Amino acid sequence: MRMMRKPLLKVLIGALGLLLVLIVVLLVRAWRVGQQVESTENLEPLQLTLDAEALAQRLAGALRFPTVSNQDPARIDSSAFRALHTYLKENFPQVHAHLRREIIGGLSLLYTWPGQDTTLPAVVFMGHQDVVPIATPEAWTHPPFGGVVADGFVWGRGALDDKIGVLGVLEAVEHLLADGFRPVRTVYLAFGHDEEVGGRHGARQIAERLAARGVRLIAVVDEGGFVVDGVIPGMTRPVALVGVAEKGYVSLELTATAPGGHSSTPPTQTAIGTLSRAIVTLEDNPFPARLDGPTRGLLERLAPYVTFGPRVVLANLWLFGPVVKWMLARSPAGNASLRTTTAPTIFEAGVKENVLPTQARAVVNFRIYPGETAESVEQRVRTLLEDLPLQVRRLEETVTDPSPVSDFEGEAFRRVVAAIRQARADAPPVVAPYLVPGATDARYFTALSPNVYRFIGAQITPELLATIHGVDERVAVDEYVQAVRTYYALIRALSGP
Ligand SMILES: [Zn+2]
Repeated sequence: MRMMRKPLLKVLIGALGLLLVLIVVLLVRAWRVGQQVESTENLEPLQLTLDAEALAQRLAGALRFPTVSNQDPARIDSSAFRALHTYLKENFPQVHAHLRREIIGGLSLLYTWPGQDTTLPAVVFMGHQDVVPIATPEAWTHPPFGGVVADGFVWGRGALDDKIGVLGVLEAVEHLLADGFRPVRTVYLAFGHDEEVGGRHGARQIAERLAARGVRLIAVVDEGGFVVDGVIPGMTRPVALVGVAEKGYVSLELTATAPGGHSSTPPTQTAIGTLSRAIVTLEDNPFPARLDGPTRGLLERLAPYVTFGPRVVLANLWLFGPVVKWMLARSPAGNASLRTTTAPTIFEAGVKENVLPTQARAVVNFRIYPGETAESVEQRVRTLLEDLPLQVRRLEETVTDPSPVSDFEGEAFRRVVAAIRQARADAPPVVAPYLVPGATDARYFTALSPNVYRFIGAQITPELLATIHGVDERVAVDEYVQAVRTYYALIRALSGP
């Protein structure tokens, strides 16, 4: 017995020593990350005075045009778009006097503001004129196309998605022109008319036009992320989420067939049973979670600013990665930032209670994480379901692979960070990369520039975020002003030498 004890004690002491070393390493790393807090001392606030009421009224006016897009170009009310174009001409006279305007794809707008040095790569600011239809107009506090300014908000469809982008960029350029600003690099303004239905006739054609002209771009700025506050646990400051990539999109149709017949003598395997097993199999086997790319970049940028406990975790992702993944995966938004998501959206079979259906059909929608493709998603699904008697078919019309991940370490991103902080110098947000879960028009520009950023400089709450494509879409007047200030700073920063 005595012989056994000594080695055991040694092992115990050794283990304790190692644990102590580990704890010291974790704490030192957390402390060092905490030293990386960006100073606000040398932050030059943006000098720009804006008339909030006039800005709000001009945005509200633009919301009164029902520029609803449609998959079928013949069913678009093009007069609403043309009326919006006239409205823009009337309200932004400097822009229309100094920039060249082209109509592309029928209703999209491309403005060119020539730079002083046309040999330098140019910059593109984007927005989209079109909006989604209204499902329940009676549920709105103010009419969706009323363009009402009330209670400190601009109300109406498009207030956040995305006439704020179109009007915000135009306001910024109008003010820059009034201030005598002349860009060194050429600035393009690209406002598509069919983003909500895929952007194939608008943004894609604009990108093709620029590519055909041999245009090179230092950066592209489109919608995608906003400024958020209080939604990230342990985070003590507002965060500007700059989208540096967007997920891909593929829907797979699953069809199970069976002989059918009378329900009094059913076979052991029915079409509905097979299809149900398929859906359960897919939900039980989520795509692998990955803590890399923009999501890892986001956590690393936040680490210096969170309270000490969370900071120990975020500063040591090499150890706590699995814990962070597990925590993120518990919320739908967190889960979407980690992996390709699986969403069964259609499930249909059967017409009569005593008849076995000969066919059961489901559609599962996948949002593809960067690094995977529509092809690899389909292959994985086929492998998971290979033992089930059913067909898998890809719905080709809507397939999009994930975008490339834009650079978030280099010069262009540094300019974006500085501009955003300058525009909101009173409470500068932490600027962090972000994976946009939905699709934007910006993806058509990724071949033209490695720096495609998706961001609008307004702060919004989860409640307001839910109004996008929903009821009571609106933006706070003060935050619209912040968005314009941010565009002003971004245009100056990115069009510089
Ligand atoms: Zn949008």
